[in-house]
Amino acid sequence: MIGKPFMEAVPVLELIERSGFEAYFVGGSVRDHILGREIADVDIATSALPEELKRIFSKTTDVGVEHGTILVHFKGASYEITTFRSEAEYSDFRRPDKVSFIRSLREDLQRRDFTMNAIAMDKDGEIIDPFAGKDAIHSKQIVTVGNPDERFGEDALRMLRAVRFLSQLSFSIEDKTLKSFQQHCRLLENIAVERKTVEFEKMLQGPDRSKAVKLLATSGMFQYLPGLKQHQESLIRFSSQISENLELAETWVLLLYELGLAGKEIEDFLRAWKLPVQKIKKLKQIHSWLLLRIDAQWNEESLYKAGLENAISSEKVYKTLFPEKSSMIGQITQIHEQLPIKHRQELKVTGNDLMAWLDRNPGPWLRELLEEIEKAVIHGIVQNEKEKIKAWLNGSNLKSEKN
Ligand code: ATP
Ligand code: MG
Repeated sequence: MIGKPFMEAVPVLELIERSGFEAYFVGGSVRDHILGREIADVDIATSALPEELKRIFSKTTDVGVEHGTILVHFKGASYEITTFRSEAEYSDFRRPDKVSFIRSLREDLQRRDFTMNAIAMDKDGEIIDPFAGKDAIHSKQIVTVGNPDERFGEDALRMLRAVRFLSQLSFSIEDKTLKSFQQHCRLLENIAVERKTVEFEKMLQGPDRSKAVKLLATSGMFQYLPGLKQHQESLIRFSSQISENLELAETWVLLLYELGLAGKEIEDFLRAWKLPVQKIKKLKQIHSWLLLRIDAQWNEESLYKAGLENAISSEKVYKTLFPEKSSMIGQITQIHEQLPIKHRQELKVTGNDLMAWLDRNPGPWLRELLEEIEKAVIHGIVQNEKEKIKAWLNGSNLKSEKN
């Protein structure tokens, strides 16, 4: 029995076949199907060339025609369809010099990284498995298709992918494949950071993330990952701490902490991984709240400033680092819920009000005063109502005499 995502795509295979070509499900979806894991999207491989596919399907998008991949839109879904190819020459340890389109499924499977990823399935659920990928899946082994030295020599990213799969699938890496790491990890130097980041982040989210990171540290691979060269010990410490309940962002923050980075170093490190600017900003925030949390407990003011999400994230990292200390997770939500305002925009007075009341021109005083009012509201000293705030200001008689 093949699952729903496959069933829905069967007509796509049929259309290709009706035009005289072969088409199969391949890659991660077939592997995950054999494993009994849920599959998100199916990948399709075909003997038809991109141009030929475009004649079969009316709606397509070019996503990587030079590599033989197009996106086919069919009945509200999109399918990545890749022409069978071989990747003959590798001169720089990264990407094939030339992609040759071929008509043979077997050769296409042969260029794939691991035997578990080199299995095809036809529209009736028949498995085509020339490299004993099913056996590898059943014995939970990550094995390269062919000689690991050659395969890692062609594309060093595959080593990182092996570690990522170890984390995601809780498989182990077959001995020869593993031994090959030591000798070839240097080749990771040539790999584009973006490709490394994709694998690293997937690794950090898999159930066996801890084992995976430890392997990065012990295999020597860490030296060729951005900003980690000098940090073997920290990585090993990090690996023993990453727990499954941490989200990806929280895991990055834990890593920042373990690396002992501060100030500009943090920015440089995250930029070296080419993370998006917004994400870097978020990670820096959570990290700085973590440092504050290490020094002090949460209170109304810090929770208001951090926001619930950042507070919870940093508290989770804190708890991971100091499991013996008592966690404030429960209190955080409670205190935050009871805050009279959650954002400055909710303050019932504006800068315009203050200027009118005090008959003053704008200036730095305005911001200071707003902050003071904000603080008083958060601490419940004055209620968040215009008249009450005005009366409080008059009563405390503070502001009108400042400069
Ligand atoms: P996921 O479930 O995370 O998508 P996946 O196995 O589908 O895992 P992808 O990165 O989507 O991984 O790649 C799809 C398929 O393409 C792989 O299963 C593998 O057959 C092949 N592949 C991907 N990257 C490489 C590579 N660097 N070298 C050789 N084959 C690769
Ligand atoms: Mg995939």
